[in-house]
Amino acid sequence: MNLNGIWQDFLTIIREEAGSRVVETWFKAVVFSQWDSHAKTAYFKVPNNFVKEWLTNNYMRLFELHLGRLLNEQKIHLLFLDETKMDMQIRPARPQETAEQHMPVLASIKKEHLPVQAAPRKVCINLDYKFDSFVVGPNNSLAYAAAHAVTEKPGILYNPLFIYGGSGLGKTHLLHAIGNQIKAQDNKARVLYQSADRFVTEFINAIRFNKVNQFEQKYREIDVLLIDDIQFISNKEQTQESFFHIFNALYEARKQIVLSSDSMPRDISGLADRLRTRLDGGLITDIQKPTLETKIAILKKKAELQREIISDEIAYFIASRVSSSVRELEGLLIRVLAFANLTHQALSLELAQKVLLSSTRESTLLPVLGFDRIAACVATHYNLTLSELRSIKRHKDITIARNAAMYLMKKLTHKSLAEIALFWGRKDHSTVVHALSKIDQIRVEDVAIQETLNQLERQLLET
Ligand code: ADP
Ligand code: MG
Repeated sequence: MNLNGIWQDFLTIIREEAGSRVVETWFKAVVFSQWDSHAKTAYFKVPNNFVKEWLTNNYMRLFELHLGRLLNEQKIHLLFLDETKMDMQIRPARPQETAEQHMPVLASIKKEHLPVQAAPRKVCINLDYKFDSFVVGPNNSLAYAAAHAVTEKPGILYNPLFIYGGSGLGKTHLLHAIGNQIKAQDNKARVLYQSADRFVTEFINAIRFNKVNQFEQKYREIDVLLIDDIQFISNKEQTQESFFHIFNALYEARKQIVLSSDSMPRDISGLADRLRTRLDGGLITDIQKPTLETKIAILKKKAELQREIISDEIAYFIASRVSSSVRELEGLLIRVLAFANLTHQALSLELAQKVLLSSTRESTLLPVLGFDRIAACVATHYNLTLSELRSIKRHKDITIARNAAMYLMKKLTHKSLAEIALFWGRKDHSTVVHALSKIDQIRVEDVAIQETLNQLERQLLET
């Protein structure tokens, strides 16, 4: 294997990602001395301990990501050997590996074919990410509608479509959903999903192999181009230029382009103006954080996809543990489901609490508070009588007070939604979920409400 060639490729990538100064300062004096394909370990000689520490502390991610890709390995181990201490024993980077394990293979490095190519790996559309597994809520309905519309008239209605929003809110899901839907309608449609950072790497490889033309050509032949996390091309001038040409060619040929990003085009730094103008030129739509109700609906949907059914109660509990990211929400659900499965227990609120409450302290911390106390406290604060509070009147102030009381009941007791509903004389707990969701929303916008809730909470917990 041509280690030097791979190393030079790697440096080119690092130059694009981190800048030439970084490469000159930290990477130039490093020698990629051996690759043990058996133990998936790369050996480097570094001039001194300082360089070694610096690389380890700051650039591990880049090593693992890009060198791993160039070596065609998902996970690689790295060993930095300080040249000034070369005669000392080799210390493996990971504690569980002993030096002996590495010794024999050090001598016999297998010859392997060059894995680096300009052609990209085939990027598949994820079949799990479809429109019908996407839960629509007020936070994402516009993005969903726009994404769907694009599949009805690709290249015509909204071009480009630009979807932005925080991490874990469903951008990648929507991009794949567009791809899946278009493929379902027209099997021959050439749909390409690519994350922008892969696009960058691919471009760099194309430069190295003198294949920029083929690279651009490949993208120009696409019918639907889905580029995820476009913010990753910021500050990568050459890549941007290449993307600009591809964009124009596709746009003029009325091919659909969909992009996602963590922020609006104008907020992506290090983007060439003319490219920014292009990204700005179509429909820009955002995905906001999901509301409580949407979080609950997503959890139920995800459970359903795993052939499990979870109650509102459990869903509410899980949803209340996560602030916004649907990815995190899913993570917690998986933990609960896995635990139930592995321990052969039925899904229950208690089980979910056991799995997700980080310490038993957290779950026993709450004092024993009765619903009556909470209701009385809230009524007094809002200058209402208890019967007014418990009535079904929809006067605005009363509604807010009632919602606040339900919120405090959920937060400060271990009682279930159904029990809370019962206290308020409601048949089912959807009223409670609605109230909690409302409070969740206004709490963000309305500082006064937030202050009131905090004050009531303190009052209840302190007395
Ligand atoms: P992003 O790309 O915005 O960081 P993803 O699209 O990767 O987020 O979403 C993270 C996870 O959350 C995925 O598993 C996705 O299926 C799920 N997800 C996000 N939003 C929704 C939604 N509205 N309905 C169903 N699943 C969702
Ligand atoms: Mg994503």
